[in-house]
Amino acid sequence: MEKKDIKSLTLTELKAEMAALGEKPFRAVQLYEWMHRKLARGYEEMRNIPAAMKTKCGESYHYTVLKTVAVQESAIDGTKKYLFALSDGNMVESVWMRYKHGNSVCISSQVGCRMGCRFCASTLDGLVRNLSASEMLDQIYAITLETGERVSNVVVMGSGEPLDNYENVLRFITMLTDENGLHMSQRNVTVSTCGIVPKMRELAKEKLQITLALSLHAATDEKRRKLMPIANQFTLAELMDCCAYYFEQTGRRITFEYSLVRNVNDTRKDAETLAALIRGLNCHVNLIPVNPVRERDYVQSERQAVEAFAALLAKKGINATVRREMGRDIDGACGQLRRRFLDNSSAGENLSVN
Ligand code: SAH
Repeated sequence: MEKKDIKSLTLTELKAEMAALGEKPFRAVQLYEWMHRKLARGYEEMRNIPAAMKTKCGESYHYTVLKTVAVQESAIDGTKKYLFALSDGNMVESVWMRYKHGNSVCISSQVGCRMGCRFCASTLDGLVRNLSASEMLDQIYAITLETGERVSNVVVMGSGEPLDNYENVLRFITMLTDENGLHMSQRNVTVSTCGIVPKMRELAKEKLQITLALSLHAATDEKRRKLMPIANQFTLAELMDCCAYYFEQTGRRITFEYSLVRNVNDTRKDAETLAALIRGLNCHVNLIPVNPVRERDYVQSERQAVEAFAALLAKKGINATVRREMGRDIDGACGQLRRRFLDNSSAGENLSVN
């Protein structure tokens, strides 16, 4: 039988597990604190835990740790991109960004992705597997240890579709915001989805104070279907209803992500259609010039088109910002570093990063 993953257990679950092993409840509290507050990379660091208990835990559970395979640092803005190896050798990417209001980490929620968005590098080889809660937490823990700085914001916007790994992502949020762990505020957590309507509705019912970002990228069903296969399953009308429901349930305004692709979704007409689509919704629009991916032929919108698009939304009273591109010089787009690494290592070359 596969061993249980000890770092994916909530404190309540850990207490029950320790009781079953014949340990006192305070031992579970100590253990949890080592794992999720002191960010121990193994039992050997846990000074106040008896050796016999460490041995028992080692035999009964799997303890996840990430291995840093590569780090790229942007010469432009100090953004760092990490490539981590998981225990089974699979690799995921995370990004660390420094903003005026604090440090932000963008984590992956799956190895690969099965959503198939046309402009995205993460999905080119499909889904390999879901990440566990501990593997998502570990990305933040590893970066905190490596930078020596507190992470104040987390965005689940790396590789993978978080709502396609719903249970683990929810568990991850619970543990990340738990007062016995890093105790991050829910308001500082953003989950980005391509728009799996039933899961968005389920999430709304949790009434979390996180921000939900919806990757829209087009304002008509026809255009969206060309960019995102998920649009064949859910119409924009269904999505907009769902966003209104999300706001109603949580009181949290939705963020719409809109990647601007030259001559595909960046015209004045596109901006007008978008404004009409989201009018009346309590929302914010993030405009992102698309990150070119080697395997795809999408091109970034011209600066002028981006500005005109933003200006038109503003004129219609829609809150919009053009997202500053971070780490443009370091394989910025989701999944690009991992792909480059996999490509190069299978070709027997050494990738030199750092
Ligand atoms: N699956 C989730 C989260 C991961 S993608 C989602 O779809 O939202 C995070 C964001 O990056 C999404 O808005 C996605 O559409 C966008 N994205 C992916 N590839 C991109 C690229 N090459 N350029 C710009 N944005 C991209």
